[in-house]
Amino acid sequence: SKTIRLDKYLADMGCGTRSEVKQMIRKGQVEVNGEKAKKPELKITTGQDRVCVAGKEICYEKYRYLLLHKPAGYVSATTDNRDQTVLELLPEGLRKDLFPVGRLDKDTEGLLLLTNDGDLAHRLLSPKKHVDKTYYARIDGKVVAEDQEAFLQGVDIGDETKTLPAKLEILESADVSEILLTIHEGRFHQVKRMFQARGKQVIYLKRMTMGPLVLGEDLPKGVYRELREDERKALG
Ligand code: URA
Repeated sequence: SKTIRLDKYLADMGCGTRSEVKQMIRKGQVEVNGEKAKKPELKITTGQDRVCVAGKEICYEKYRYLLLHKPAGYVSATTDNRDQTVLELLPEGLRKDLFPVGRLDKDTEGLLLLTNDGDLAHRLLSPKKHVDKTYYARIDGKVVAEDQEAFLQGVDIGDETKTLPAKLEILESADVSEILLTIHEGRFHQVKRMFQARGKQVIYLKRMTMGPLVLGEDLPKGVYRELREDERKALG
């Protein structure tokens, strides 16, 4: 446990910006150990003092893990001069210190993990321990068995080494094909470049899974949720 100012405690837990939570304290909406707190600078001992906002207990947790259904049009960064970032899809009070684990292209949709846990991000992104990622894509052109075979063998996408074996599942082989592709790396524009190497263009791309995390049907585009305990544990 550690001691921390009440306003920082609440801001860190995503209850609002520092000035918003100061307002909440002044309005008497915050209780500490059953008594109305009066001062934002009140020292709280985490794991010991009981802090409630509007009657609901707010536990202090150092790390936060959010699963976002990224829409197209947002960049996977914390700041950008030109474009909207994925952080702008979160309420302001929740953004502090969070960053995306890996990147999806601006026009790619789907599962994006956001956290302030640098060690976890490092573990998930390390080339030695790259987690599987499954993408759904629509491809301009007919995707065929030869493409499956090529991806299984690994393709030259202009990097120093070929891509690792990847599993291609053809859902629909037509003028516009639909596929699922599972890769074990996370190279720059990897899925698009793999299809490019086969003379085909990705026209829509969405990440469906990352390791044990699955983008459920119940999470609408542009919406986030916290990871469940079992998901957090499964990430390792
Ligand atoms: N591969 C891509 O080409 N783009 C992404 O956003 C993710 C994987």
